[in-house]
Amino acid sequence: MDEATVALIDRIAEGGLAGTVPPKADVVRLLALDPCSPEASYLEERACEVAHRVSGDTGRIAGAVGIDFAPCSMNCSFCSFGERWGVIGEEVAYTEDEVIAMVRAYVEQGATMVTLRSTEFYDLDVLQEWIADIRAQVPGSYEINMNVGELTPERAQAIWECGATSAYHVLRLREGEDTPFDPEVRIATIRAIAASPLLLGTCVEPIGPEHTDDELADGILFGLECGAYSGGVMARVPVPGTPLEHAGTISEDRLMQILAVERIVAGLQYESIGCHPPVERALYAGANSLTVEAGANPRDVEPGAEPWKGFTVAEAKGLLEKAGFAVRLPNPEPRVCPTPRLRTGERVPKPSGRCC
Ligand code: SF4
Repeated sequence: MDEATVALIDRIAEGGLAGTVPPKADVVRLLALDPCSPEASYLEERACEVAHRVSGDTGRIAGAVGIDFAPCSMNCSFCSFGERWGVIGEEVAYTEDEVIAMVRAYVEQGATMVTLRSTEFYDLDVLQEWIADIRAQVPGSYEINMNVGELTPERAQAIWECGATSAYHVLRLREGEDTPFDPEVRIATIRAIAASPLLLGTCVEPIGPEHTDDELADGILFGLECGAYSGGVMARVPVPGTPLEHAGTISEDRLMQILAVERIVAGLQYESIGCHPPVERALYAGANSLTVEAGANPRDVEPGAEPWKGFTVAEAKGLLEKAGFAVRLPNPEPRVCPTPRLRTGERVPKPSGRCC
């Protein structure tokens, strides 16, 4: 192995555990390694060590509930929900009872988090009521994460008061090119979440072979700069009928490399990192969080209440435990609002500055 590269990997990993973020040039150097090289294997080993250190050997399972399978006017080039792509056949909108049943199943099976995921313009006043009802009807120590449209500071606060604990938001790779969003609109939501009591989860996504080391380094560092508490990497799925269907996919080796880089760069800041698709190898390259999906999925052309690709909570738990991660929250009391609203009480103004 190249000694200078090994020394760089060690320096970044140890710096991350001391709370230091490396300069972008160093992140780019790691991303420029051959993903099949011995140095990349060493990088994955160090990333795995960091994952165990920062998590205290705990792993997370997020159960995602896709609430609506419906055309979305934002038309992101990789998403099956883009109305222009005509991929959506019959629209499906899960009822509150159906969503609560999916959440209950996840929690009873051992998921540490449930993520409510919607298309961009789903009515957040409705979702706030559902969050409150989930907290009232599904007992347990679990996080509720929101993966929804744009949030104002007031909305982020209201969502937390209804019982959510975190929100996931991403400045997607080539935002504004592969999506019609003004990147500033996405950034405003990320800042609103970060400034609220909600924890911010983020990810580098959706990664395709055309994304450069420079862009990936920017994605990794941006999440850290925004104060996220968890990160991830997601390979783009070539959804049939979408404009990026034929733009190619990255190899598993490359995905593991990007994951490992993010893991050692993030150090103490990220208590968990996920990987999509949730391959077993990721748990030996820096991931300690796996996502199980049900309902509407922007990476598929049909919804279903069954686990996506047959990947279940039980299987995720088995993989995490085999890799040495106990499935539990690092803090058994998730950051739930101590004085929750049982209902929204008031409507929260919609954000301005949308771009379509
Ligand atoms: S990624 Fe989100 S905003 Fe873009 S088309 Fe899909 S649902 Fe709409």
